[in-house]
Amino acid sequence: MPLRIGIDLGGTKIEVVLLDDAGREQLRTRIATPREDYEGTIAAVVQLVEQARKLAGRTCSVGIGIPGAVSSETGLVKNANSTWIIGRALDRDLERALGQPVRVANDANCFALSEAIDGAAAGCQSVFGVILGTGVGGGLVFEGRVLVGVNGLGGEWGHNPLPCPLDDERPGPRCYCGRCGCIETWLSGPALAREAAADPDLRGLSALARARDGDARGVVELAGCGHPAAVRVLDRYLDRLARSLASVINIVDPHAIVLGGGLSNIDLIYEELPRRWGRYVFSDTVRTQLLRNRHGDSSGVLGAARLWDLPQAAVCDGVPAVSDIQAPGASNSASGQRGRTVKPSGTCAT
Ligand SMILES: [Zn+2]
Repeated sequence: MPLRIGIDLGGTKIEVVLLDDAGREQLRTRIATPREDYEGTIAAVVQLVEQARKLAGRTCSVGIGIPGAVSSETGLVKNANSTWIIGRALDRDLERALGQPVRVANDANCFALSEAIDGAAAGCQSVFGVILGTGVGGGLVFEGRVLVGVNGLGGEWGHNPLPCPLDDERPGPRCYCGRCGCIETWLSGPALAREAAADPDLRGLSALARARDGDARGVVELAGCGHPAAVRVLDRYLDRLARSLASVINIVDPHAIVLGGGLSNIDLIYEELPRRWGRYVFSDTVRTQLLRNRHGDSSGVLGAARLWDLPQAAVCDGVPAVSDIQAPGASNSASGQRGRTVKPSGTCAT
């Protein structure tokens, strides 16, 4: 069995990991992403892979997680917030440069895969991996394999409408995808920061200065200190999260939901969600486990290294090869800059 190299190609850094036969890390290092420079990005990935291959001294598989998707129609990267890789044949260019096959996958799917294989949800038959960060992404893993789906939409939930919207949640904020009131517009970090910045009792507080830049940490810290208005804002966030995850449970009924991304560090989520989501789930009891990720920021690169552990065909549909693990026409990505572009309709609240 070849050793496994995983690459997490992010917008600000590129990380590599080398796993031995037992899954132990033999190398982990990162370099800054050459932003706005496609050729430089290819060269940086090649540099890291060659460093790992040299250390391994034998054949290695190479898996790469990207903040975007590869179109199954064109084979080109689309919907990536690292815009300089959009429209590029990233996988083929890397294969040519490296002289070996590579597998490229959406980063949220890599996260879910990593946590399902040997992370927080190890041993669980079905896992929904969620990223709550700059954007809202997700991936579904069933018996250790990513559920791509016939439309490549497996795990995509960030651009469904917020379930059970209250009067003041309709039609909801406009989303970059063209719709209004998408789950992502309520549950991302910038969304929570927006809600805090708009609250009349919080507006102007120095602790929330960063909220105007989409940073939600201030409101979480204030709520932790018991500030009533911050507690109120966070309470609304938790209820929206409960509704949104309940709708996933009602369809997928996963054994475990693993949270990642910056907002997964809110301790209250793990106490409150199991108390709250029961009212929205069509069952007398909810046995789904809500778990904090085990691998943290490393989930992406570890999941990428695992891409070659997967069989050639994606589970359930049997159509796309695993190299097409990214959503054709849509992305499960954690970035807030990706997804299908649809014609705007209706009037949004903001
Ligand atoms: Zn949307």
